[in-house]
Amino acid sequence: CGIFAYMNYRVPKTRKEIFETLIKGLQRLEYRGYDSAGVAIDGNNHEVKERHIHLVKKKGKVKALDEELYKQDSMDLKVEFETHFGIAHTRWATHGVPNAVNSHPQRSDKDNEFVVIHNGIITNYKDLKKFLESKGYEFESETDTETIAKLIKYVFDNRESEDITFSTLVERVIQQLEGAFALVFKSIHYPGEAVATRRGSPLLIGVRSKYKLSTEQIPILYRTCNIENVKNICKTRMKRLDSSTCLHAVGDKAVEFFFASDASAIIEHTNRVIFLEDDDIAAVADGKLSIHRVKRSASDDPSRAIQTLQ
Ligand code: GLU
Repeated sequence: CGIFAYMNYRVPKTRKEIFETLIKGLQRLEYRGYDSAGVAIDGNNHEVKERHIHLVKKKGKVKALDEELYKQDSMDLKVEFETHFGIAHTRWATHGVPNAVNSHPQRSDKDNEFVVIHNGIITNYKDLKKFLESKGYEFESETDTETIAKLIKYVFDNRESEDITFSTLVERVIQQLEGAFALVFKSIHYPGEAVATRRGSPLLIGVRSKYKLSTEQIPILYRTCNIENVKNICKTRMKRLDSSTCLHAVGDKAVEFFFASDASAIIEHTNRVIFLEDDDIAAVADGKLSIHRVKRSASDDPSRAIQTLQ
């Protein structure tokens, strides 16, 4: 029901500050209604090789999640992250009862290699689930969303090249999905990176930098928009972006990105906002945001779409 995610890139933040930003983001979305809430954040070992994503999920109010976060023994609140990507969600159950396992983020496996938050409904999830189970992927929740987490791992496990990008994985995943979705992904295989996409459910991205973002630093987006006005950015996007063009907003210095299903969670942080459109994939890597539009799968028949995966 509600999506909020926050990336600080070269903007040092303590774990406590990151928690506060994520919880405040969720609180702004509470008015929409929900039954449970959860977050995925980096474990203490983020900076070293041994990566780890930590999930905290709770049935009930955001306040209960907030309390649960501070109870986590392994979470040192003073640890500082120069770069960190945290994702947070309030769920309004459509598939599966409200409980901690069914709440989001949903995960690919017990090691939390890929985690995802989702607003909407995947109408072909049963076919996808059957396919993934036949390949040995084990499900733990009753949600439609878990198929997305498993599907991205399936695509990753069967990748043809080692250097496949995070956004390519997501592109392959959404080509198999039917229904409505706004999605934000995080992965231990792509630390410090974020991928977000949508179809039918709203999703927007706010950009904030403590440096004055000159046209050199964010060459295409702000030069073409030439203002920081939400409406105009939106119009410019509509005009110029199609499946063959790629939009780059580059912040090569300190920059923060806010992903949300609703502007009310972003507006207190920044007024530089980009509305994603259907089948846009937005990826942040090395502090650079790029957005491109994906072509829909040729087939609307899910069973045929699954065959293209095999
Ligand atoms: N369909 C998903 C679920 O039931 C997402 C619901 C939502 O939008 O919160 O888990």
